[in-house]
Amino acid sequence: MSAVAYWFRHDLRLGDNPALCQALAHADTLLPLVCLDDHWQPHSPWPFARLSPARQRVRADAIAALDAALQARGSRLLVLHGAPQQVLPPLLARHGVQRIVAEDIAAPEEQAQVAALRLAGFAVDTVWQSTLLDPASLPFAPAVLPASFTAFRQRVEAAGVRPPAPLAAPARLPPPPAGVDWQPLPFIDVQPDPRSSLPWHLPAAHAGEAAGLAHLQQYLARDLPRTYKATRNGLVGQDYSSKWSLWLALGSVSARTLYAALQGYEAQHGASDGSYWLWFELLWRDYFRLLHVQYGARLYRGRGLHGQPPAPMADAAFARWCQGRTGHAFIDAGMRELAATGYLSNRLRQNVASYLLHDLGGDWRAGAAWFEAQLVDYDVYSNQGNWLYLAGRGTDPRGSRRFNPDKQAADYDADGAYRRLWGTR
Ligand SMILES: Cc1cc2nc3c(=O)[nH]c(=O)nc-3n(C[C@H](O)[C@H](O)[C@H](O)COP(=O)(O)OP(=O)(O)OC[C@H]3O[C@@H](n4cnc5c(N)ncnc54)[C@H](O)[C@@H]3O)c2cc1C
Repeated sequence: MSAVAYWFRHDLRLGDNPALCQALAHADTLLPLVCLDDHWQPHSPWPFARLSPARQRVRADAIAALDAALQARGSRLLVLHGAPQQVLPPLLARHGVQRIVAEDIAAPEEQAQVAALRLAGFAVDTVWQSTLLDPASLPFAPAVLPASFTAFRQRVEAAGVRPPAPLAAPARLPPPPAGVDWQPLPFIDVQPDPRSSLPWHLPAAHAGEAAGLAHLQQYLARDLPRTYKATRNGLVGQDYSSKWSLWLALGSVSARTLYAALQGYEAQHGASDGSYWLWFELLWRDYFRLLHVQYGARLYRGRGLHGQPPAPMADAAFARWCQGRTGHAFIDAGMRELAATGYLSNRLRQNVASYLLHDLGGDWRAGAAWFEAQLVDYDVYSNQGNWLYLAGRGTDPRGSRRFNPDKQAADYDADGAYRRLWGTR
């Protein structure tokens, strides 16, 4: 038994957190901490800040909720500002902590952080926990995924693979070491545009764990999974899709917790096409995670898994796309919603990405970086995977995906209400 640091990453919760449980098994004292690298801009090749105020706000909210939950269990969250590999070594040396436990993240920057900490002499135990399915339960090795999402899903379903049950939150936590210089929690005072489909400034969509679980319960209690398949291509409002992405991205609720609740819902209300389709979408999320396990940094090359590097794009054209001033009313409405709210429906994400790639000839990495900066539900795996997929540089056998924006507007915004809402028509 010893002094252990638990480093919260994209898992800002106590419930169903296997990595945290592993840390508890070894700890006499436990120092829970989070690192906010607010100075990411110098590391980005793109001419905009890497983290919008909206993203900072939801992260601050989730951190405040986590700290409150830790305090209720006899502990507390230490907030550090800076890159983990820079701020952790001196701090942990001061407190005699040699072991760090954290969730495993199979993305290049996050892996480099862990590698640097190991190089600095720390024992860093990383625990894989962000997929719905346990990789060890799959009928294939994660490093040799079936070549397409459809083949992946079919093999998972044919093998009857199901997620493990979620773990309970620990009732008590070991005390932190003595003499910690506790820092104030971050506070960001920013609100989304009131037209938001995901009003993260309101208590019902607060980014913390308890609000996420309450959101889940009300979503199921109102029988919304039943209609999900029919409504999921909606563009306006809070109920057309689940909005689980906010809590999943911050890790304030785990995919296994969502799925267990969905099973409970099905037992009570019956299964439907809609409830099945939520499982289907969560499998997409797993697929992009496992794709990272298989291909790693290759997913981040300009050429992706194959093809040529993207051609350079004029800065002015990219800026017009970011600002919602391309001249195409449907696309501009989407880009304005994204900038004003930090959220966008899946339908519009597909359309604006396709427009940048296939109508403007843009660089998919620049588009992915703009989404990273803006999306309150930014998730490194899902963002990179979806952009790569639409750019035709991933594993999709059908090549790149161009959406015809005129037809899409006619099909999904026939009366123009969405374009009027965002002032482009
Ligand atoms: C270019 C592009 C970039 C994207 N970037 C992100 C991102 O950074 N973070 C993110 O969470 N999702 C991303 N998505 C996927 C998807 O658009 C969002 O997950 C979804 O719109 C979030 O809203 P929701 O929770 O209401 O989704 P719902 O439709 O209710 O779906 C339920 C859950 O299933 C998962 N899911 C649904 N669609 C996808 C998908 N295509 N890929 C992976 N998981 C999916 C999500 O976890 C989502 O919360 C992106 C899609 C595109 C086309």
